[in-house]
Amino acid sequence: MNITELARRLKVTTKELKEKLPELGFDIGPKAIQIPDEQAQKVIEAWQKMKREEEKRKELEKIKERIIKKELATEKKIFLPNVITVNNLAKKLNLPVTKVIQQLIKNGVLATINDNLDFEIAAIISEQFGFKVEKETKEMKEEEEMIMTKERLEKLIKEDDKSKLKVRQPIIVVMGHVDHGKSSLIEKIKEIRITDKEPGAITQSIGAYEVEKNGKKITFIDTPGHEAFKLMRARGGQVADIAILVVAADDGVKEQTIESLEIIQKEKLPFIVAINKIDKPEADPERVKKQLAELNLVPEEWGGKTICQNISAKTGFGINELLDLILVVAELEKEKLLANFNRPAIGTIIEAHLDKGEGPVATVIIHTGKLKERDFIVTQEAYGRVKSLYDWQGKRIKEGLPGMAVKIIGFKTLPKVGEILEVKDQKEFKKIKRRLELKKEFISPLVLVKQKEAKSVNLIIKADVIGSLEALIEAIKKLEFEEAKINIIKKGLGPINEADVLEAFKSKALIFGFKVKISKEAEKIAEKEGVKFFLSQVIYELLEKMEKEIKEIIGPKIKEVYLGKVKILATFRSGDNFSIVGGKVLEGKISVGSKVRIWRNDEIVGLGEIEQLQINKIDVKEVSENQECGIKYKGKEEIKIGDIFEIYKEEEE
Ligand code: GDP
Repeated sequence: MNITELARRLKVTTKELKEKLPELGFDIGPKAIQIPDEQAQKVIEAWQKMKREEEKRKELEKIKERIIKKELATEKKIFLPNVITVNNLAKKLNLPVTKVIQQLIKNGVLATINDNLDFEIAAIISEQFGFKVEKETKEMKEEEEMIMTKERLEKLIKEDDKSKLKVRQPIIVVMGHVDHGKSSLIEKIKEIRITDKEPGAITQSIGAYEVEKNGKKITFIDTPGHEAFKLMRARGGQVADIAILVVAADDGVKEQTIESLEIIQKEKLPFIVAINKIDKPEADPERVKKQLAELNLVPEEWGGKTICQNISAKTGFGINELLDLILVVAELEKEKLLANFNRPAIGTIIEAHLDKGEGPVATVIIHTGKLKERDFIVTQEAYGRVKSLYDWQGKRIKEGLPGMAVKIIGFKTLPKVGEILEVKDQKEFKKIKRRLELKKEFISPLVLVKQKEAKSVNLIIKADVIGSLEALIEAIKKLEFEEAKINIIKKGLGPINEADVLEAFKSKALIFGFKVKISKEAEKIAEKEGVKFFLSQVIYELLEKMEKEIKEIIGPKIKEVYLGKVKILATFRSGDNFSIVGGKVLEGKISVGSKVRIWRNDEIVGLGEIEQLQINKIDVKEVSENQECGIKYKGKEEIKIGDIFEIYKEEEE
């Protein structure tokens, strides 16, 4: 066979074939033109075998590559929240923000450093940078929120008038590995330093205690054992000014020692290492110091900056020295301990529980300002007015000052540990209280029923590029319908395809395509199954269509019309689903068939209807302002004297 003919059959050039032949074990000279047919057949077989092996090798390479990529991806796993600013995304990706903005532009998204990005878009960008993305969990979000709170707190304190600031007592947190002696150290300090226990004082811990050394006060946070350990340590780190890291001399640096150090470093807390259990024969403090040095925490005596103190929580050895060191560090850090002793207080809740007799009870660490009896107090989610204050020993006090831990009675609702407490003037307090109440009203069972009744409209949206998709999502978010919840169940780029239509059919969704087409197949299915889809090149046109469709689904809008207010003066009889009461119309005019919202102590307690009205035992249709009447109320709630009926009717708009 001619060699050129053979090369053609094998789909290579003659030159390539001639080069490969010796590799395959055929001894054919570079000048040969022909080879015997029998040999040609063998070349073909050998060639095919070689090709098969080559393919296998390539396949293997690909798999390897995939594995490596996957490993890299898992290495670079990140968690993203529902919404994130460009700046924070860059921080998470550990990339310069300009790079993230550039990548966004490449995807058709014009965003500046403080703009918010949706999870989907942030995820696409992160994946393009080779990250594996997952949604942030609730716990992570809680931790994130904690950090936010700290930033807010720092800002609040920074805003203070510098000339009014004084150094406050330091707040200390004790951290370290389990069993290294944290509780023992706390107990020993109490035993040595606290001799003047108040007679009759409540012995129950309020989550903190104070000691005095050389005439100076120190506050210790006493993190209770039952709290989630890690979270509490993080919180302690957040509230404290100085940390004591306990390391047992017989055990050395352990996992939770490192975890504690991570918190300390994250919070930039100055710290002292207490090398504990020095009384034990097997204690080896030098080993601990070596381990610390290996962690780049070189002890002072070795020329480093890490302050270490040998102690025994059992015998009390070194504890007074430890307290002295705390005062030294506090002196060095006094810039950070400045507080205004006269402004309204700002603090952090470190403990909160519901007491049977006293109601919500909370302990706050005061960062700045003065907390007094009768102060109006708010946190992010709770509010109240200080009824009484107690110090850490349970002694009633008139006011709490910066650096102190104070027990508060007077919260109307239970605050959460970690929330920031602020004292407000009455006007602002009322505003915040109303907002918090409204927030609560939304989750009242009545509202839940209403929410259930609200229809939900599912949407699938497709667009040509991320920028368009984002614009559409933003615009949809602005379309507000009280009676309907809009769920975007799927969003994506490219033409509307069969999968989109099938999904829409399954979830009864409407499909909107912005600057995209629909595939022929998808269109056929949509027509057959009656799936509605809308396409447009113009966003407003698309939104108009969307609004029209959603309104059609919702039906006519129901509007609430306020009619008046009745104060309940007497209750006569009540049955399974009704009550007969007497009241006076304070405002407006009420009528049979109207709806009722019952208010008690500024809270809504029930919803019902007026079934019957009587004036002097005679049935009437309406009762006007200032008139007294008998009311048959339809509803389950037990009505109490003093309740206010808010009367309204619902109308179609
Ligand atoms: P925590 O889990 O860090 O609070 O550790 P604990 O304070 O509960 O101490 C754990 C164990 O170590 C207990 O049995 C203590 O009695 C013991 N312990 C704590 N400090 C010392 C110490 O200085 N010397 C000795 N010999 N034992 C100690």
